[in-house]
Amino acid sequence: MSEYALYIDGQAVAAKTAFPVVNPATGAVFAQAPLADAETVESAVAAAARAFSATGWRDDESLRRAALQTAAERLEAAQEVIARLITQEQGRPLAFARAEVAGAVAVLRGHAALPLPEDVILRDDTESLARVERRPLGVVAAITPWNVPVILLALKLAPALLAGNTIVAKPSEITPLSTLRLAEAIGSAFPPGVFNVVSGAAETGRALAAHPAVRKIAFTGSVATGRALFRNAADDFKRLTLELGGNDAALVLEDADPALIAEKIFWGAFWNSGQICFAIKRLYVPAALQKRLLEALLSRARKTVVGDGLEEATELGPLTTATQLERVRALVADAKSRGGVVHTGGRVPDAGFFYPPTLVTGLGSGTPLVDEEQFGPVLPLIPYTDAEAALAEINANPYGLGASVWTSDVERGLGIARRFESGLSWVNEHQSLHPGTPKGGWKWSGLGYEGGREGLEAYRQLQVVHVARGAEGGHS
Ligand code: ADP
Repeated sequence: MSEYALYIDGQAVAAKTAFPVVNPATGAVFAQAPLADAETVESAVAAAARAFSATGWRDDESLRRAALQTAAERLEAAQEVIARLITQEQGRPLAFARAEVAGAVAVLRGHAALPLPEDVILRDDTESLARVERRPLGVVAAITPWNVPVILLALKLAPALLAGNTIVAKPSEITPLSTLRLAEAIGSAFPPGVFNVVSGAAETGRALAAHPAVRKIAFTGSVATGRALFRNAADDFKRLTLELGGNDAALVLEDADPALIAEKIFWGAFWNSGQICFAIKRLYVPAALQKRLLEALLSRARKTVVGDGLEEATELGPLTTATQLERVRALVADAKSRGGVVHTGGRVPDAGFFYPPTLVTGLGSGTPLVDEEQFGPVLPLIPYTDAEAALAEINANPYGLGASVWTSDVERGLGIARRFESGLSWVNEHQSLHPGTPKGGWKWSGLGYEGGREGLEAYRQLQVVHVARGAEGGHS
Protein backbone atom coordinates (compact mmCIF):
# COMPACT_ATOMS: atom_id res chain seq x y z
CA MET A 1 0.00 0.00 0.00
CA SER A 2 1.01 3.56 -0.59
CA GLU A 3 1.33 6.28 2.02
CA TYR A 4 0.31 8.65 -0.79
CA ALA A 5 -3.28 9.01 -1.94
CA LEU A 6 -5.06 9.93 -5.15
CA TYR A 7 -7.10 13.11 -4.98
CA ILE A 8 -10.65 12.84 -6.28
CA ASP A 9 -13.74 14.96 -5.66
CA GLY A 10 -12.10 16.84 -2.82
CA GLN A 11 -11.01 13.65 -1.00
CA ALA A 12 -7.82 11.69 -0.51
CA VAL A 13 -8.61 8.31 -2.11
CA ALA A 14 -6.64 5.10 -1.58
CA ALA A 15 -5.96 2.80 -4.52
CA LYS A 16 -6.22 -0.99 -4.52
CA THR A 17 -2.68 -1.39 -5.82
CA ALA A 18 0.55 0.54 -5.77
CA PHE A 19 3.67 0.91 -7.89
CA PRO A 20 7.28 1.59 -6.86
CA VAL A 21 9.06 4.92 -7.16
CA VAL A 22 12.84 4.86 -7.53
CA ASN A 23 15.37 7.40 -6.26
CA PRO A 24 17.75 7.84 -9.22
CA ALA A 25 20.59 8.94 -6.94
CA THR A 26 20.64 5.46 -5.38
CA GLY A 27 18.81 3.31 -7.92
CA ALA A 28 16.64 2.00 -5.05
CA VAL A 29 12.87 2.07 -4.52
CA PHE A 30 12.05 4.62 -1.81
CA ALA A 31 8.25 4.86 -1.91
CA GLN A 32 5.06 3.35 -3.34
CA ALA A 33 2.53 5.38 -5.30
CA PRO A 34 -1.16 4.59 -5.73
CA LEU A 35 -2.15 3.10 -9.08
CA ALA A 36 -5.41 4.45 -10.50
CA ASP A 37 -7.24 1.77 -12.50
CA ALA A 38 -9.85 2.44 -15.18
CA GLU A 39 -12.69 2.51 -12.63
CA THR A 40 -10.87 5.12 -10.55
CA VAL A 41 -10.15 7.24 -13.62
CA GLU A 42 -13.88 7.03 -14.40
CA SER A 43 -14.76 8.33 -10.94
CA ALA A 44 -12.27 11.20 -11.23
CA VAL A 45 -13.61 12.30 -14.61
CA ALA A 46 -17.18 11.98 -13.34
CA ALA A 47 -16.32 14.22 -10.37
CA ALA A 48 -14.72 16.78 -12.69
CA ALA A 49 -17.74 16.67 -15.01
CA ARG A 50 -20.13 17.24 -12.09
CA ALA A 51 -18.06 20.14 -10.82
CA PHE A 52 -18.12 21.66 -14.29
CA SER A 53 -21.90 21.26 -14.65
CA ALA A 54 -22.54 22.86 -11.29
CA THR A 55 -22.93 26.53 -12.14
CA GLY A 56 -20.84 27.89 -9.26
CA TRP A 57 -17.34 27.31 -10.57
CA ARG A 58 -17.55 28.17 -14.21
CA ASP A 59 -19.74 31.24 -13.69
CA ASP A 60 -17.87 32.78 -10.80
CA GLU A 61 -14.64 34.38 -11.90
CA SER A 62 -13.86 35.91 -8.52
CA LEU A 63 -14.25 32.51 -6.83
CA ARG A 64 -11.76 31.06 -9.32
CA ARG A 65 -9.26 33.86 -8.79
CA ALA A 66 -9.51 33.56 -5.01
CA ALA A 67 -9.06 29.78 -5.23
CA LEU A 68 -5.91 30.14 -7.36
CA GLN A 69 -4.56 32.69 -4.90
CA THR A 70 -5.23 30.36 -1.95
CA ALA A 71 -3.65 27.46 -3.85
CA ALA A 72 -0.53 29.58 -4.45
CA GLU A 73 -0.24 30.33 -0.73
CA ARG A 74 -0.66 26.67 0.27
CA LEU A 75 1.83 25.51 -2.34
CA GLU A 76 4.32 28.06 -1.04
CA ALA A 77 3.83 26.73 2.49
CA ALA A 78 4.53 23.18 1.22
CA GLN A 79 7.56 24.22 -0.85
CA GLU A 80 10.21 22.37 1.12
CA VAL A 81 8.42 19.03 1.39
CA ILE A 82 7.52 19.04 -2.32
CA ALA A 83 11.00 20.17 -3.36
CA ARG A 84 12.55 17.25 -1.45
CA LEU A 85 10.22 14.84 -3.21
CA ILE A 86 11.18 16.29 -6.60
CA THR A 87 14.84 15.74 -5.77
CA GLN A 88 14.21 12.21 -4.52
CA GLU A 89 12.10 11.05 -7.45
CA GLN A 90 13.54 13.16 -10.28
CA GLY A 91 17.12 13.67 -9.13
CA ARG A 92 17.77 17.37 -9.55
CA PRO A 93 19.63 19.39 -6.90
CA LEU A 94 17.43 20.62 -4.09
CA ALA A 95 18.03 24.31 -4.86
CA PHE A 96 16.64 23.77 -8.37
CA ALA A 97 13.73 21.75 -7.00
CA ARG A 98 12.89 24.60 -4.64
CA ALA A 99 13.07 26.98 -7.59
CA GLU A 100 10.66 24.76 -9.50
CA VAL A 101 8.07 24.92 -6.72
CA ALA A 102 8.60 28.69 -6.41
CA GLY A 103 8.04 28.92 -10.17
CA ALA A 104 4.78 26.99 -9.86
CA VAL A 105 3.66 29.33 -7.07
CA ALA A 106 4.40 32.28 -9.37
CA VAL A 107 2.39 30.67 -12.17
CA LEU A 108 -0.63 30.22 -9.86
CA ARG A 109 -0.33 33.78 -8.52
CA GLY A 110 0.20 35.20 -11.98
CA HIS A 111 -2.94 33.50 -13.26
CA ALA A 112 -4.98 34.58 -10.24
CA ALA A 113 -4.38 38.13 -11.48
CA LEU A 114 -4.23 37.53 -15.25
CA PRO A 115 -6.95 39.50 -17.04
CA LEU A 116 -9.46 37.45 -19.00
CA PRO A 117 -9.76 39.20 -22.37
CA GLU A 118 -12.90 41.30 -22.77
CA ASP A 119 -15.81 40.16 -24.88
CA VAL A 120 -15.93 41.77 -28.31
CA ILE A 121 -19.11 43.63 -29.20
CA LEU A 122 -20.02 43.23 -32.87
CA ARG A 123 -23.24 45.21 -32.71
CA ASP A 124 -25.10 47.00 -29.92
CA ASP A 125 -28.02 49.22 -30.98
CA THR A 126 -31.81 49.37 -30.76
CA GLU A 127 -32.28 46.40 -33.09
CA SER A 128 -29.63 43.95 -32.08
CA LEU A 129 -26.89 42.97 -29.73
CA ALA A 130 -24.18 40.68 -31.05
CA ARG A 131 -21.23 39.77 -28.90
CA VAL A 132 -18.29 37.37 -29.07
CA GLU A 133 -18.02 35.69 -25.68
CA ARG A 134 -15.74 32.98 -24.40
CA ARG A 135 -16.68 29.79 -22.62
CA PRO A 136 -14.62 27.13 -20.89
CA LEU A 137 -14.27 23.76 -22.59
CA GLY A 138 -15.22 21.37 -19.78
CA VAL A 139 -13.08 18.63 -18.26
CA VAL A 140 -9.38 18.93 -19.06
CA ALA A 141 -6.95 16.00 -18.85
CA ALA A 142 -3.46 17.21 -17.90
CA ILE A 143 -0.82 14.56 -18.62
CA THR A 144 2.70 15.45 -17.51
CA PRO A 145 6.22 14.01 -17.84
CA TRP A 146 8.97 13.36 -15.29
CA ASN A 147 11.56 16.03 -16.10
CA VAL A 148 9.92 19.11 -14.51
CA PRO A 149 6.80 17.63 -12.93
CA VAL A 150 5.43 20.46 -10.82
CA ILE A 151 5.89 23.47 -13.06
CA LEU A 152 4.55 21.63 -16.09
CA LEU A 153 1.43 20.80 -14.11
CA ALA A 154 1.06 24.40 -12.89
CA LEU A 155 1.25 25.68 -16.47
CA LYS A 156 -1.79 23.55 -17.31
CA LEU A 157 -3.73 23.74 -14.08
CA ALA A 158 -3.65 27.53 -13.64
CA PRO A 159 -4.99 28.61 -17.06
CA ALA A 160 -7.44 25.69 -17.24
CA LEU A 161 -8.98 26.61 -13.90
CA LEU A 162 -8.88 30.38 -14.39
CA ALA A 163 -10.84 29.86 -17.61
CA GLY A 164 -13.53 27.93 -15.69
CA ASN A 165 -12.69 24.36 -16.67
CA THR A 166 -12.20 21.48 -14.26
CA ILE A 167 -9.20 19.18 -14.41
CA VAL A 168 -7.97 15.63 -13.91
CA ALA A 169 -4.16 15.52 -13.77
CA LYS A 170 -2.03 12.46 -14.34
CA PRO A 171 1.64 12.78 -13.40
CA SER A 172 4.32 10.55 -14.86
CA GLU A 173 4.69 7.15 -13.20
CA ILE A 174 8.39 8.02 -12.73
CA THR A 175 7.67 11.15 -10.63
CA PRO A 176 4.14 10.88 -9.19
CA LEU A 177 4.85 11.85 -5.57
CA SER A 178 5.43 15.59 -5.98
CA THR A 179 2.07 15.95 -7.77
CA LEU A 180 0.22 13.80 -5.22
CA ARG A 181 1.70 15.87 -2.42
CA LEU A 182 0.78 19.05 -4.28
CA ALA A 183 -2.82 17.86 -4.46
CA GLU A 184 -2.79 17.22 -0.71
CA ALA A 185 -1.50 20.76 -0.17
CA ILE A 186 -3.71 22.75 -2.55
CA GLY A 187 -6.71 20.53 -3.33
CA SER A 188 -9.04 22.00 -0.73
CA ALA A 189 -8.50 25.49 -2.19
CA PHE A 190 -10.97 24.42 -4.90
CA PRO A 191 -14.57 23.19 -4.75
CA PRO A 192 -14.75 19.35 -4.75
CA GLY A 193 -14.21 17.85 -8.22
CA VAL A 194 -12.57 20.95 -9.73
CA PHE A 195 -9.03 19.55 -9.35
CA ASN A 196 -8.32 15.81 -9.28
CA VAL A 197 -5.13 13.76 -9.48
CA VAL A 198 -4.82 10.13 -10.59
CA SER A 199 -1.41 8.48 -10.75
CA GLY A 200 -0.39 5.54 -12.90
CA ALA A 201 1.45 4.73 -16.11
CA ALA A 202 0.49 4.80 -19.80
CA GLU A 203 -2.64 2.74 -19.21
CA THR A 204 -4.00 5.26 -16.72
CA GLY A 205 -3.15 8.05 -19.18
CA ARG A 206 -4.86 6.23 -22.04
CA ALA A 207 -8.03 5.68 -20.01
CA LEU A 208 -8.10 9.35 -19.06
CA ALA A 209 -7.37 10.69 -22.55
CA ALA A 210 -9.97 8.41 -24.15
CA HIS A 211 -12.78 9.35 -21.77
CA PRO A 212 -15.66 10.95 -23.71
CA ALA A 213 -16.29 13.57 -21.01
CA VAL A 214 -12.74 14.91 -21.41
CA ARG A 215 -12.93 17.84 -23.81
CA LYS A 216 -9.28 18.81 -23.87
CA ILE A 217 -5.95 17.09 -23.43
CA ALA A 218 -2.99 19.17 -22.28
CA PHE A 219 0.11 17.03 -22.68
CA THR A 220 3.85 17.38 -22.26
CA GLY A 221 5.94 14.35 -23.17
CA SER A 222 7.39 12.34 -26.00
CA VAL A 223 6.66 12.72 -29.71
CA ALA A 224 5.46 9.11 -29.85
CA THR A 225 2.84 9.60 -27.12
CA GLY A 226 1.89 13.00 -28.59
CA ARG A 227 1.18 11.32 -31.92
CA ALA A 228 -0.95 8.63 -30.27
CA LEU A 229 -2.95 11.25 -28.37
CA PHE A 230 -3.39 13.37 -31.51
CA ARG A 231 -4.69 10.37 -33.49
CA ASN A 232 -7.01 9.16 -30.74
CA ALA A 233 -8.38 12.63 -30.04
CA ALA A 234 -9.72 12.71 -33.60
CA ASP A 235 -12.54 10.33 -32.69
CA ASP A 236 -14.46 12.95 -30.78
CA PHE A 237 -12.50 16.07 -31.76
CA LYS A 238 -10.98 16.71 -28.37
CA ARG A 239 -8.94 19.90 -28.21
CA LEU A 240 -5.22 19.39 -27.70
CA THR A 241 -2.16 21.24 -26.56
CA LEU A 242 0.98 19.18 -27.11
CA GLU A 243 4.42 20.13 -25.87
CA LEU A 244 6.78 17.51 -27.23
CA GLY A 245 10.51 17.06 -27.65
CA GLY A 246 13.20 19.34 -28.97
CA ASN A 247 16.64 19.17 -30.50
CA ASP A 248 17.69 22.74 -29.90
CA ALA A 249 20.77 24.03 -31.64
CA ALA A 250 23.09 26.77 -30.45
CA LEU A 251 24.83 28.52 -33.34
CA VAL A 252 28.05 30.24 -32.28
CA LEU A 253 29.24 32.92 -34.73
CA GLU A 254 32.92 33.61 -35.39
CA ASP A 255 32.84 36.94 -33.49
CA ALA A 256 31.76 35.29 -30.21
CA ASP A 257 34.26 35.05 -27.34
CA PRO A 258 34.47 31.44 -26.07
CA ALA A 259 35.60 32.58 -22.62
CA LEU A 260 32.53 34.78 -22.26
CA ILE A 261 29.90 32.36 -23.54
CA ALA A 262 31.11 29.01 -22.20
CA GLU A 263 29.40 29.20 -18.80
CA LYS A 264 26.00 30.09 -20.27
CA ILE A 265 26.28 27.45 -22.98
CA PHE A 266 27.28 24.88 -20.38
CA TRP A 267 24.13 25.49 -18.31
CA GLY A 268 21.97 25.87 -21.42
CA ALA A 269 22.97 22.32 -22.29
CA PHE A 270 23.45 20.58 -18.96
CA TRP A 271 20.96 22.09 -16.51
CA ASN A 272 18.79 19.28 -15.04
CA SER A 273 21.39 16.92 -16.54
CA GLY A 274 20.21 17.86 -20.02
CA GLN A 275 16.68 16.63 -19.33
CA ILE A 276 14.90 19.74 -20.53
CA CYS A 277 12.97 19.84 -23.79
CA PHE A 278 14.56 23.15 -24.73
CA ALA A 279 18.13 22.41 -23.60
CA ILE A 280 20.98 22.96 -26.09
CA LYS A 281 21.41 19.57 -27.75
CA ARG A 282 23.63 20.47 -30.73
CA LEU A 283 26.39 23.08 -30.69
CA TYR A 284 27.45 24.53 -34.05
CA VAL A 285 30.87 26.18 -33.78
CA PRO A 286 33.09 27.94 -36.36
CA ALA A 287 35.95 25.49 -37.07
CA ALA A 288 38.46 28.16 -36.02
CA LEU A 289 36.85 28.51 -32.56
CA GLN A 290 36.17 24.86 -31.78
CA LYS A 291 39.39 24.18 -29.85
CA ARG A 292 39.00 27.20 -27.56
CA LEU A 293 35.31 26.65 -26.90
CA LEU A 294 35.84 22.94 -26.26
CA GLU A 295 38.57 23.72 -23.73
CA ALA A 296 36.42 26.29 -21.94
CA LEU A 297 33.44 23.92 -21.75
CA LEU A 298 35.58 21.01 -20.68
CA SER A 299 37.22 22.94 -17.89
CA ARG A 300 33.71 23.88 -16.61
CA ALA A 301 32.62 20.24 -16.93
CA ARG A 302 35.62 19.03 -14.91
CA LYS A 303 34.74 21.38 -12.04
CA THR A 304 31.09 20.31 -11.92
CA VAL A 305 29.92 18.61 -8.76
CA VAL A 306 27.79 15.65 -9.82
CA GLY A 307 26.00 13.82 -7.01
CA ASP A 308 22.90 13.26 -4.93
CA GLY A 309 20.68 16.33 -5.25
CA LEU A 310 19.96 16.30 -1.51
CA GLU A 311 23.58 17.38 -0.90
CA GLU A 312 23.76 21.14 -1.06
CA ALA A 313 27.02 21.28 -3.05
CA THR A 314 25.59 19.23 -5.94
CA GLU A 315 25.32 21.03 -9.27
CA LEU A 316 24.13 18.14 -11.44
CA GLY A 317 22.06 15.19 -10.23
CA PRO A 318 21.67 11.79 -11.87
CA LEU A 319 19.61 11.00 -14.94
CA THR A 320 16.07 10.29 -13.82
CA THR A 321 15.74 6.72 -15.07
CA ALA A 322 17.91 3.72 -15.81
CA THR A 323 16.38 3.68 -19.31
CA GLN A 324 17.52 7.22 -19.93
CA LEU A 325 21.02 6.39 -18.69
CA GLU A 326 21.16 3.41 -21.06
CA ARG A 327 20.00 5.58 -23.95
CA VAL A 328 22.72 8.17 -23.30
CA ARG A 329 25.37 5.44 -23.00
CA ALA A 330 24.19 3.88 -26.26
CA LEU A 331 24.27 7.21 -28.10
CA VAL A 332 27.81 7.87 -26.92
CA ALA A 333 28.94 4.34 -27.86
CA ASP A 334 27.37 4.83 -31.30
CA ALA A 335 29.11 8.22 -31.65
CA LYS A 336 32.47 6.58 -30.84
CA SER A 337 31.86 3.86 -33.41
CA ARG A 338 31.40 6.61 -36.01
CA GLY A 339 34.70 8.27 -35.16
CA GLY A 340 33.40 10.69 -32.53
CA VAL A 341 35.88 11.75 -29.84
CA VAL A 342 34.46 11.78 -26.32
CA HIS A 343 35.68 14.36 -23.77
CA THR A 344 34.40 13.63 -20.30
CA GLY A 345 34.46 15.94 -17.34
CA GLY A 346 34.49 15.06 -13.68
CA ARG A 347 33.87 12.02 -11.55
CA VAL A 348 30.46 10.62 -10.74
CA PRO A 349 29.22 8.39 -7.90
CA ASP A 350 29.18 4.65 -8.58
CA ALA A 351 25.61 3.94 -7.45
CA GLY A 352 22.57 5.53 -9.09
CA PHE A 353 21.97 6.69 -12.66
CA PHE A 354 24.84 9.17 -12.94
CA TYR A 355 26.56 10.31 -16.10
CA PRO A 356 29.24 13.01 -16.23
CA PRO A 357 28.86 16.15 -18.36
CA THR A 358 30.38 15.11 -21.67
CA LEU A 359 31.34 16.81 -24.94
CA VAL A 360 31.70 14.97 -28.22
CA THR A 361 33.62 16.19 -31.28
CA GLY A 362 34.11 14.73 -34.73
CA LEU A 363 30.43 14.22 -35.57
CA GLY A 364 28.18 15.83 -38.14
CA SER A 365 24.51 15.61 -38.97
CA GLY A 366 23.41 12.16 -40.05
CA THR A 367 24.53 10.68 -36.72
CA PRO A 368 21.99 9.87 -33.99
CA LEU A 369 23.65 12.00 -31.28
CA VAL A 370 23.25 15.07 -33.52
CA ASP A 371 19.95 14.29 -35.21
CA GLU A 372 17.99 12.93 -32.25
CA GLU A 373 17.08 14.22 -28.83
CA GLN A 374 19.63 12.79 -26.33
CA PHE A 375 17.94 14.20 -23.18
CA GLY A 376 21.11 13.78 -21.15
CA PRO A 377 24.38 15.57 -20.26
CA VAL A 378 26.12 14.93 -23.58
CA LEU A 379 26.66 17.69 -26.11
CA PRO A 380 28.03 17.25 -29.64
CA LEU A 381 30.13 20.12 -31.08
CA ILE A 382 29.72 20.41 -34.83
CA PRO A 383 32.34 22.54 -36.61
CA TYR A 384 31.29 24.63 -39.61
CA THR A 385 32.82 27.09 -42.05
CA ASP A 386 29.69 28.61 -43.60
CA ALA A 387 27.11 30.07 -41.20
CA GLU A 388 24.34 29.97 -43.83
CA ALA A 389 24.93 26.25 -44.40
CA ALA A 390 24.92 25.66 -40.61
CA LEU A 391 21.61 27.53 -40.29
CA ALA A 392 20.10 25.44 -43.08
CA GLU A 393 21.28 22.27 -41.34
CA ILE A 394 19.83 23.42 -38.02
CA ASN A 395 16.46 24.10 -39.64
CA ALA A 396 16.46 20.79 -41.51
CA ASN A 397 15.85 18.93 -38.24
CA PRO A 398 12.20 17.93 -37.69
CA TYR A 399 12.12 19.45 -34.20
CA GLY A 400 11.44 23.17 -33.74
CA LEU A 401 11.24 24.02 -30.06
CA GLY A 402 14.12 26.45 -29.45
CA ALA A 403 17.42 27.67 -30.91
CA SER A 404 20.01 30.27 -30.02
CA VAL A 405 22.70 32.32 -31.73
CA TRP A 406 25.84 33.57 -29.95
CA THR A 407 27.64 36.67 -31.20
CA SER A 408 29.09 40.03 -30.18
CA ASP A 409 26.95 41.65 -32.91
CA VAL A 410 23.45 41.61 -31.46
CA GLU A 411 21.80 43.02 -34.61
CA ARG A 412 23.30 40.31 -36.75
CA GLY A 413 22.30 37.75 -34.13
CA LEU A 414 18.72 38.98 -34.18
CA GLY A 415 18.62 38.63 -37.96
CA ILE A 416 19.62 34.98 -37.62
CA ALA A 417 17.39 34.34 -34.58
CA ARG A 418 14.35 35.35 -36.64
CA ARG A 419 15.25 32.75 -39.25
CA PHE A 420 15.32 29.78 -36.88
CA GLU A 421 12.35 27.47 -37.42
CA SER A 422 11.49 27.32 -33.73
CA GLY A 423 8.94 28.64 -31.28
CA LEU A 424 11.66 30.01 -28.97
CA SER A 425 14.60 31.90 -30.38
CA TRP A 426 17.37 33.43 -28.30
CA VAL A 427 20.37 35.72 -28.83
CA ASN A 428 23.25 35.11 -26.38
CA GLU A 429 21.14 33.04 -24.01
CA HIS A 430 19.23 29.78 -23.99
CA GLN A 431 16.43 28.40 -21.81
CA SER A 432 15.46 31.77 -20.34
CA LEU A 433 11.70 32.36 -20.26
CA HIS A 434 9.87 35.45 -19.08
CA PRO A 435 6.68 35.03 -17.06
CA GLY A 436 3.85 35.04 -19.56
CA THR A 437 5.90 33.46 -22.34
CA PRO A 438 3.64 31.54 -24.72
CA LYS A 439 5.82 28.46 -25.15
CA GLY A 440 5.08 26.34 -28.18
CA GLY A 441 6.96 24.14 -30.59
CA TRP A 442 7.06 24.25 -34.35
CA LYS A 443 7.03 21.10 -36.47
CA TRP A 444 7.42 17.93 -34.34
CA SER A 445 7.91 19.91 -31.15
CA GLY A 446 4.25 20.48 -30.52
CA LEU A 447 0.88 21.91 -31.19
CA GLY A 448 -0.50 25.09 -29.65
CA TYR A 449 0.97 27.24 -26.88
CA GLU A 450 1.33 26.92 -23.15
CA GLY A 451 1.67 29.99 -20.93
CA GLY A 452 0.68 33.61 -21.28
CA ARG A 453 -2.39 34.93 -23.03
CA GLU A 454 -2.25 32.37 -25.85
CA GLY A 455 -1.94 29.57 -23.32
CA LEU A 456 -5.03 30.81 -21.51
CA GLU A 457 -7.08 31.05 -24.70
CA ALA A 458 -6.27 27.40 -25.41
CA TYR A 459 -8.67 26.56 -22.55
CA ARG A 460 -11.60 28.56 -23.93
CA GLN A 461 -13.85 28.48 -26.97
CA LEU A 462 -15.81 31.24 -28.63
CA GLN A 463 -19.54 31.63 -28.50
CA VAL A 464 -21.21 34.38 -30.50
CA VAL A 465 -24.36 35.56 -28.75
CA HIS A 466 -27.07 37.40 -30.69
CA VAL A 467 -30.01 39.14 -29.05
CA ALA A 468 -32.80 40.67 -31.11
CA ARG A 469 -34.15 43.90 -29.66
CA GLY A 470 -37.06 46.22 -30.38
CA ALA A 471 -40.84 45.87 -30.50
CA GLU A 472 -40.87 42.80 -32.74
CA GLY A 473 -38.62 40.96 -30.37
CA GLY A 474 -36.66 39.65 -33.26
CA HIS A 475 -39.57 38.03 -35.13
CA SER A 476 -38.93 39.99 -38.31
P1 ADP B 1 8.58 10.50 -21.40
O1 ADP B 1 9.45 9.69 -22.30
O2 ADP B 1 8.97 11.93 -21.28
O3 ADP B 1 8.23 9.84 -20.11
P2 ADP B 1 5.97 9.82 -22.32
O4 ADP B 1 5.28 10.40 -23.50
O5 ADP B 1 6.24 8.36 -22.31
O6 ADP B 1 7.27 10.67 -22.20
O7 ADP B 1 5.23 10.15 -20.98
C1 ADP B 1 4.65 11.40 -20.68
C2 ADP B 1 3.36 11.17 -19.93
O8 ADP B 1 2.43 10.52 -20.79
C3 ADP B 1 3.48 10.28 -18.71
O9 ADP B 1 2.58 10.76 -17.71
C4 ADP B 1 3.03 8.93 -19.23
O10 ADP B 1 2.53 8.06 -18.24
C5 ADP B 1 1.92 9.35 -20.18
N1 ADP B 1 1.61 8.39 -21.25
C6 ADP B 1 2.44 7.51 -21.86
N2 ADP B 1 1.80 6.86 -22.85
C7 ADP B 1 0.53 7.34 -22.87
C8 ADP B 1 -0.64 7.10 -23.67
N3 ADP B 1 -0.62 6.22 -24.66
N4 ADP B 1 -1.76 7.80 -23.42
C9 ADP B 1 -1.79 8.72 -22.43
N5 ADP B 1 -0.74 9.00 -21.65
C10 ADP B 1 0.40 8.32 -21.85
